[in-house]
Amino acid sequence: MQPKYLHIYTIGCQMNVYDSERMAMALAPLGYLPALSPGDADMVIVNTCSVRSKAEQKAFSILGRLEDAKRRRPDLIVAVAGCVAQQEGARILARAPHVDLVLGTRAIQRIAARVRQVESGHRPIVDLDMKDEAEAFEASPEPADRAGVSRFVTIMRGCDNFCAYCVVPHVRGRETSRPPDLILSEIEALVATGVREVTLLGQNVNSYGAKEGLCPFPELLERVNAVDGLARIRFTTSHPKDLTEGLIQAFAGLEKLCPHIHLPVQSGSDRILERMNRRYTRSHYLDKVAKLRNSCPGIAITSDMIVGFPGETQADFEATLDLVREVQFDGLFAFMYSDRPHAPSTRLTQKVPERDQSERLQALLELQHGITFARNRALTGSVQEVLAEGFSKQQTSRGRSGAEPFQWTGRTPGNKVVNFDCPAGPGVGREVRAGQLVSVRIERALAHSLWGALGEDGTAVCRTRREVGHAA
Ligand code: SAM
Ligand code: SF4
Repeated sequence: MQPKYLHIYTIGCQMNVYDSERMAMALAPLGYLPALSPGDADMVIVNTCSVRSKAEQKAFSILGRLEDAKRRRPDLIVAVAGCVAQQEGARILARAPHVDLVLGTRAIQRIAARVRQVESGHRPIVDLDMKDEAEAFEASPEPADRAGVSRFVTIMRGCDNFCAYCVVPHVRGRETSRPPDLILSEIEALVATGVREVTLLGQNVNSYGAKEGLCPFPELLERVNAVDGLARIRFTTSHPKDLTEGLIQAFAGLEKLCPHIHLPVQSGSDRILERMNRRYTRSHYLDKVAKLRNSCPGIAITSDMIVGFPGETQADFEATLDLVREVQFDGLFAFMYSDRPHAPSTRLTQKVPERDQSERLQALLELQHGITFARNRALTGSVQEVLAEGFSKQQTSRGRSGAEPFQWTGRTPGNKVVNFDCPAGPGVGREVRAGQLVSVRIERALAHSLWGALGEDGTAVCRTRREVGHAA
């Protein structure tokens, strides 16, 4: 089979990263290999996000650039997948007539069949069918050299929560969970190719399996914890209203579950939380945070926050700043509110002017910046278990001459990036391999990462994260 080349632009969240990987795997049997650059590709897929308007604009700007390429090379296949595809459907063809294939969020598993149709001259094709064939991907995990150390695994799709600002339930459909046996066999297959860490993905993992009568999420975690050869488990995202005692206790009981939770709060004001339809209050949230810290001391907590939701006053925003000071998050993703198609908040009046939104965002980011830095500094002097992922960006860009050490990168159990030197050479005995758990003494804290050195015991593998101490 003549090799063909594929380039995928992935915009948005980890779900899209996972979907892009699955599309690439599904197209491999058709002869598609990864292209070195978009210019070398026979097919370009733009895997889109519509959670905020900026992400949507980015998708159309990439499509705009592809128009010229398509004019020069009419055989180039241009596909649009993901949330914007689902939201806009055939309207994409009116804005970008050079597009050959529009694949909605639940149509991407039919990508191989749809691409075959396009290759045989049927274009354009628009497939927005939401019927769930999530398991119909005819794809197997990639070989070890491509699999990497850490991978995402989708355990559920869609969302039933209907937060007032959010487009997800409208473009990703109702919540559907994958059966545990399929999840476990995917993880076992990934582990067989060298993967050591999985992140289980869902918009609200706490309600995993509830509708279908599958096992509850903590039980799924227990089964994943028992997979031989897997070193670490992470998950995202957890809705605060559904965070159960069972899940809080799982952090204490499952040795492979990393001590990190992403628990989006969105606002510190009860009035705004109610307008957002989040269905918890500030005090419920703080109570869950206290329980998590009680069950798993030192757990890293990160969050999402929206500033400038319609009707947000300066006093509401102060309540948000106050909550951030109280919780001391390890990290925070903060966004300016943006109107989205279908989202009920789009119809709310009392929109916050963009200049106020922008000022609030800056103030929030500045506050969090100081907290993140202080929390990173608190780790200085501690020894952390780090999953070695590969060479750091600096190492990759500078290359290496002679005797200088290799610079590696990895993450702590709390999900902080650590760069560390690894002296290499005959007799040094400290060579690190990707996928290894190594002890790293943290020597320096930076704003967004840590710097460390391999522990005295070289590449000694930490047995469990509980052996890894925090600095006093
Ligand atoms: N399911 C997750 C949850 O329950 O929070 C988050 C999913 S959403 C894809 C990721 C983040 O985008 C949200 O947590 C929220 O902070 C942000 N977001 C969603 N809609 C937004 C909007 N209309 N404007 C600004 N930010 C938005
Ligand atoms: Fe959107 Fe809310 Fe569902 Fe998260 S829980 S995806 S914010 S509707």
